[in-house]
Amino acid sequence: MADTTATFDFSTWPPALSKAQLDAITLYATTYALSHGVLYLPPAKHQPTVPTAAIHAPISLFPSPVPRRLFEYARKIQRTYNLLYARIAMDEEFLDRVMGADEGVGKVDDFIGQLWKGWKQLRDAGLAQPLHLGLFRSDYLLHYALKDSLSIKQVEFNTISVSFGSLSQRTAELHRYLLAATRYYDASPYFKLDNFPSNDTIAGLASGLAQAHEAYSVDDSQILFVVQPGERNVFDQRPLEYELLEKYSIRIIRQTFDELALSASVDPVTSVLRISCSPDLQPSGVIEISTVYYRSGYMPHEYPTASHYATRFHLERSKAIKCPTVALQLAGGKKVQEVLTQPGVLEYFLANEEKYGRDTLPAEEINNVRKSFMGMWGLDVGEDLQNPDHDAMKAGREEYGVRKAREAASSLVLKPQREGGGNNIYKEDIPPFLDILPPQERSAWIAMELIHPPENFGNYLIRAGTTDLESRTPVKAEVVSELGIFGWALFGGPDKQVVEREVGWLVRTKGKESNEGGVATGFSVLDSLLLV
Ligand code: ADP
Ligand code: MG
Ligand code: MG
Repeated sequence: MADTTATFDFSTWPPALSKAQLDAITLYATTYALSHGVLYLPPAKHQPTVPTAAIHAPISLFPSPVPRRLFEYARKIQRTYNLLYARIAMDEEFLDRVMGADEGVGKVDDFIGQLWKGWKQLRDAGLAQPLHLGLFRSDYLLHYALKDSLSIKQVEFNTISVSFGSLSQRTAELHRYLLAATRYYDASPYFKLDNFPSNDTIAGLASGLAQAHEAYSVDDSQILFVVQPGERNVFDQRPLEYELLEKYSIRIIRQTFDELALSASVDPVTSVLRISCSPDLQPSGVIEISTVYYRSGYMPHEYPTASHYATRFHLERSKAIKCPTVALQLAGGKKVQEVLTQPGVLEYFLANEEKYGRDTLPAEEINNVRKSFMGMWGLDVGEDLQNPDHDAMKAGREEYGVRKAREAASSLVLKPQREGGGNNIYKEDIPPFLDILPPQERSAWIAMELIHPPENFGNYLIRAGTTDLESRTPVKAEVVSELGIFGWALFGGPDKQVVEREVGWLVRTKGKESNEGGVATGFSVLDSLLLV
């Protein structure tokens, strides 16, 4: 979406502070973070079962500017994205074609193939629970298409284990606190409370989980959080538990795949999912599960043996509501994102009267979503889909998609079907990568045009000392800020309704020198929004 009125000069960010001001604000910020749970468990080879210490999460000292209109736009299209991904997850035929192991990405990507095959088997046998719950996060970067024309473009849409809902809310609160405590030393005229939007992501995400729990509707059932062993990001997960308990009296049990392999059982008659536990903890010795919420399960190394896949499918076939289902996880594939840019595909999901009756969207809403797309194509594509007359195949031995990726490498990123960061190939690394990529594996990759965020734009970033807990000074760096919008959808019931909400936002900021990096690994920080 173009913002022709953009007057904000990004090169003025961050505004200048004196050493004394910087020292003061650093102490305010880190102490607030430690007091309010903007935390990680410290890095350790083996996390202790009962943690005794935490460090503050990496944070920025200033919020990052985003034009108000673009923020409102991203929030608005989240509602359409929620509906869109719900419909994708319910469209088995589409997912089979795009992600399946017979004709889609699953044919060459073992991880996707395994998930799809397991899902297909369960489907053929009959699934016990029609409802799906999705907690989503759609990620964006500001983009300069032409000089002075600022827009916002989608990086990716996440459908499994979306994180930083809690920490992003707390970081927004931290920046508001810094404003209240210091007025940011009046270093910029934009430092006004009105420009610091509120962020209620914890309540929002918890309301999605609570809605699924209520739909399941069994007294004394609990929500299962499936977590990774050695998880350091527990202070992002726990606030959701506290909210569910305090506001809805819903209890939570946390288990890893390894624990579930021993504790989980599915009733052969009723398909009820039960977790066995010590009778000291629960007199009956079993807990019925209403909802399975994955904060794990999205990376191949989490399934080191066939038994890990078996555990996943065991949960999948149960009557508990899954957040997400395998179908919804597959819908979040990068390949799906690319297919959505092909002519007519958005219309197939959103303006299809034959399929969805009166629940179709006006062209304007569909185009609003389309405006958030960058150009994308599959490396295996044999012709220009946007321009079907193109007779590219005859021009060379290589398929059109690969040749186009070589030619445009300097403005591209290549992505496989993976989550969690660190998997992409950028710019000049693309041609040598294409030289060694076996042709049959091309279909597992998409090419995406690079988004061009504002240049000469900076912030002060600070992370905690780790092993010896030394204090650190903030680093002034040129940065890129990524905006995430959270939403949820509950769908799949016989009434065909999609209940969905937009529930909050996240800003993650990283030093420009790294192409990517997760907050947990220290290359990027939690940030918040300043509306300009
Ligand atoms: P993942 O699922 O692993 O997070 P992403 O698609 O989000 O994969 O890519 C990881 C990171 O790569 C993003 O956070 C962003 O910094 C960078 N990136 C991805 N796509 C683009 C793009 N089209 N333009 C610029 N940077 C991108
Ligand atoms: Mg990402
Ligand atoms: Mg992702």
